[in-house]
Amino acid sequence: MARRRNVTMKDQRERFDRVVAPPQQQQPEQRRFSVSLTVICVAVVLLLFTALVLFFLLFLFVKYHDLLLNLNLNLNPHHSNNELDLSSTSPTGDKQAVVNLDHGDPTMFEPFWKESGQKSTVVISGWHSMSYFSAAGAQLCWFLEPSFAKEVRRLHAIVGNAVSDNRHVIVGVGSTQLIHAVFFALSSSSQQPVPIVSAAPYYSMYPGIADLLKSRLFHWGGDASTFERGDNSTFIEIVCSPNNPDGTIRHAVLDSEAGKLVHDLAYYWPQYTPMRGPADEDIMLFTVSKATGHAGTRIGWALVKDADVARKMVKFIEMNSIGVSKDSQIRAARILQVVSDGYDLPDSKGADRLFHFSRHLLADRWGRLRQAVEESGRFSLPQFSSEFCEFTKEHAETYPAFAWLRCDDESIKDDCEGFFKSIKVLTRSGKHFGAGPEYVRISMLDRAHNFNLFVERISSGLG
Ligand code: PMP
Repeated sequence: MARRRNVTMKDQRERFDRVVAPPQQQQPEQRRFSVSLTVICVAVVLLLFTALVLFFLLFLFVKYHDLLLNLNLNLNPHHSNNELDLSSTSPTGDKQAVVNLDHGDPTMFEPFWKESGQKSTVVISGWHSMSYFSAAGAQLCWFLEPSFAKEVRRLHAIVGNAVSDNRHVIVGVGSTQLIHAVFFALSSSSQQPVPIVSAAPYYSMYPGIADLLKSRLFHWGGDASTFERGDNSTFIEIVCSPNNPDGTIRHAVLDSEAGKLVHDLAYYWPQYTPMRGPADEDIMLFTVSKATGHAGTRIGWALVKDADVARKMVKFIEMNSIGVSKDSQIRAARILQVVSDGYDLPDSKGADRLFHFSRHLLADRWGRLRQAVEESGRFSLPQFSSEFCEFTKEHAETYPAFAWLRCDDESIKDDCEGFFKSIKVLTRSGKHFGAGPEYVRISMLDRAHNFNLFVERISSGLG
């Protein structure tokens, strides 16, 4: 009995051992399996971790590469107190570099748009904007993007610089194409070539545009102030206000009953001049080049009262370029939207306000230029009185996009442009604007580095 119980207990222990401790020959296989499993798990975790780190670094780069770039640029010893240095003329900080202030290239605005980051970034899919026609195809300006027209009207309403209600919006490849278009539209039914005039000093491109094609429709007629028109002859007067090159506020000098007026309001924006209320002219021209600094986008617009004139302008653009880039219009619409949002949205900050940003830069530049000019005693600049600005609701100074500088010194007044060339500053002689060689036009809208070099050269006695 006792022996049987002993045998049973032994059986039970063996059975128990078999359950708790698996047979010896299975252990290495299982260990290999569990080791491989651990290695795979570790590898997967490491891979995931690396991917996460890479993704995070990529995210940081995309989000902050502007900032890194700016920090880098700020290390340049030649940068101005409150502007980033993005000079293309002399990225190495060469003090002897040629400074090109001949063109009104509006690169001064770059830091604002860099700061705006994603808000002003536009992505256009491959299938988008493929048609010649826009969604507003049935309208008078069949290539006009509705979003662009909407933002044009919105910005004018916010700034209060032009009446845009009940006006045809016509988009052009910069306002340069619109100037061509309007000359065509206003002269196409004339029996003889129509003279085009503008009061001197006038924008240097007007004569070139008028005479480029030696058209039988129109020709350059010169300074509107000295223009003598024959009996019954008509004319087109182009009024630029504020005026390029001298920044003055202009009105037509000829009797508009007899001729036709075009108002080029490229600079009627709050960074340059106090807003004196909405302009309400028959034909008004604007451009993003000077409003926001996007000269490379090549977008301008006309506000036109008369449908027949508007139709002829559209005809010109149709013949000239079969419309205007949709991509550019979409980008311009976004740019204008960001400008308007900066003033319109309740959560917008000071840094979102383009006109305040650019006005602040121009005020600083004009202050430094006036001081340098005064100390040199060899030049003079136009003076402007401050006026009430309907946009900012305070008194404001005038800060034109160009300095219309006069060489007063006898030794240099015969060739002011030549003098500046000798100190490696490229300007445009007064001769191109219907004025004398004692004047030069100097861009105030270039990058900080170039502008600083120019002022330094005047201050250091070179000028
Ligand atoms: N009008 C005036 C008075 C200008 O100064 C300019 C640009 N310099 C233009 C028109 C042409 O501008 P856009 O770049 O739009 O062709």
